[in-house]
Parts: sequence; structure tokens; C-alpha cells
Amino acid sequence: MNTFSNRVIKWHGESGRTDLPWQINKTPYKVWISEVMLQQTQVNTAMPYFDAFMKRFPNIDSLAESTTDDVLSYWSGLGYYARGRNIHKTACILKDDYSSSLPCSLIELESLPGIGRSTAGAIYSLGFNKSAPILDGNVKRVLSRHKRIDGILKKATTVNKLWEISEELLPHRNYGTYTQGIMDLGATVCTRSNPSCSVCPVEEDCLARIHSETALLPNRGTSKKKREKEVFWLVPIDKNNNVYLEKRPEKGIWGGLWSFIECDEKKELKKIYESKFSPNKTSIKKYKEIEHSFSHYNLKAHVFVVTHKRKLTKQTNIESIWTNAKELQSIGTPKPIQKLITEMSQNG
Ligand code: SF4
Repeated sequence: MNTFSNRVIKWHGESGRTDLPWQINKTPYKVWISEVMLQQTQVNTAMPYFDAFMKRFPNIDSLAESTTDDVLSYWSGLGYYARGRNIHKTACILKDDYSSSLPCSLIELESLPGIGRSTAGAIYSLGFNKSAPILDGNVKRVLSRHKRIDGILKKATTVNKLWEISEELLPHRNYGTYTQGIMDLGATVCTRSNPSCSVCPVEEDCLARIHSETALLPNRGTSKKKREKEVFWLVPIDKNNNVYLEKRPEKGIWGGLWSFIECDEKKELKKIYESKFSPNKTSIKKYKEIEHSFSHYNLKAHVFVVTHKRKLTKQTNIESIWTNAKELQSIGTPKPIQKLITEMSQNG
């Protein structure tokens, strides 16, 4: 029987994906940006974001010379915004220390913000055609099934075992094609539910298939019920439908993005409002409730609005702006916030 890697490489030549936007005129830069986008995002969702990103930031210099805000405005809606902030940080390092190119070294790649071991491996193999293992979600699934690894996927011992296997299976040539092949295999054949084992190139010696355990592997452990979180948002709005936003702290959910005033209890709304504005006979009114799901919890936000005659903002140490639905495209705002502002401007 041919080796695992040779079968994957051959299969990729016949059935793998070759026309994804980041595969056309492939460069290490395109591989880096696409790999970071794909860390938590499906291919179909990432594609239009990738195209718009490349149009605005065609190379490392254009990215380094922009601002984090500008980068985040192209990330709005993709979630996990630390990725966008790290991309900007890394671009600045590459411009200053690496002559505006990605280093062809696994160790140096891994030392850059937002590039972990698997992403470094993907850039090294796909971007430079060098030998390096990867272990993204798709590859974890293929390897757990093929080698019948039944440890809980989140545990370090299981992950270490899978890294060892990923390394052992590397080919002696065609490194980039192999990496793309095993990623594609996980994405299109060895899918989460109902894998298409009959067309899989490594089916013959796949232990999960032989033991009828494809539905049991990988072992994700028992899934916990998501936590519920409740917050109160306050939206000061003027007669021209400009809304007041504040920049969220770098750490935490929606880090560095522009969002509404937020607090944990309804009774705090008035106090916070008065600490930031010089109020003039205005009342805080309930607008609506919205729900949004994050990976670890479900958020319920009670949205309140307060109408302003004038934009009387007190001096605080939080960065703030007044903006409107038209200007939103140029700043980084989370999708639910964007949606609300657009809706308010249409109702206003
Ligand atoms: S045979 Fe089935 S379970 Fe095994 S690697 Fe292929 S698709 Fe996945």
C-alpha cells in the first residue's frame, strides 16, 4: 500500500481544491492572511472578506502603514477580533525587522503575534513548500479517525499525540500539496458528520472506518451547556441619527471595537449616562432586546436609547466617537452593533 501522504497527494491532484482565492497566484502573505481568517471561520464565509482585505491591503507594507482601526473595519463580522489586531501588529514587525516579508523559518514564524504552531506550519509548507506538520480542526478529525485516537480532543495528551502522528506522516517531497490535501480531505470528505469514506484515499487502513467508529471520533467529551450573560446597552442618539460609541478595551470580547455604553444592571444606566454627559431633560427609553451567541456563552442585551439635542460629552478617559450608519464602514464595529445602528437610522 502506498504511504498515507502519497495517497493524500495523489487524491489532491484529482479532487482537491485549487481555485480558492488565496490559492490563485499564491504567496506567503496570502497564505498567512487566509490561514488566520480560517482559524475560526468557514471557507465560504472567509472568501469575500479575504477578497476585500487583499484589495485594501495588497501587501505587508500597506497593512503595516494602516491603523488597527482600519484593519478591524475589514474584520467586522468575522468575529475573534484579536486576530485582526495581531495581523496588524505582525505586519509592523515584518516591515521593521524582516524587510516586509514573512520569514522562511518555523521558529521565527511562531514567534509572531497570532501565529501558533499550526498556522506557522501551514505558512511554511503552503507558502514556502517546506516540510512542517499542521494540526487544525480538519486535520485533527482525519488523524483521530484514521489512527483511532479516542482521547478527549481538548486534552493536552491527546493533542500531543496528534502532533506526533502529524509529524510522522509527513511526505519527503510535495510538502505544500500534502498540507493542502489533508486540509481538503478533512473539509470535504472526512466531514464532521457522515464522512464519505467510500471516496476517501486513506480508507483502506482507516481504523475508525474498520471498527465502525467514525461517528464516535474524534472524542469531543461531553459538551457543557453554554452560559447565559445579560447586559444593558445605552445608545445616546442625536436628531440627525448620530450615535455615541466607545472603544472597548483591547482584552475581552470585541476587544478594540467600537460599541455602545455597556453595564451589567439596568439601574446603572442613568448613573453612567450622567457621568458622561450633561443631560438636559432627556429620558432613557427601552428600544429592544437582542440575542447573540459567542463560542462560550449566549448574550442577551437590553438596548436603551436616549435622545440628545446637542452632543454634550464630558471629558472621560475612554475613547469615544459620534457616528452614523453611513460612516460605519470605516470603523471596526461588531456585527450586532452595526445592524442596530443601521436599523435605528432607518426607523429614525
Ligand atoms: S475513511 Fe472515512 S473516517 Fe477514515 S479518514 Fe477517510 S473519510 Fe475519514
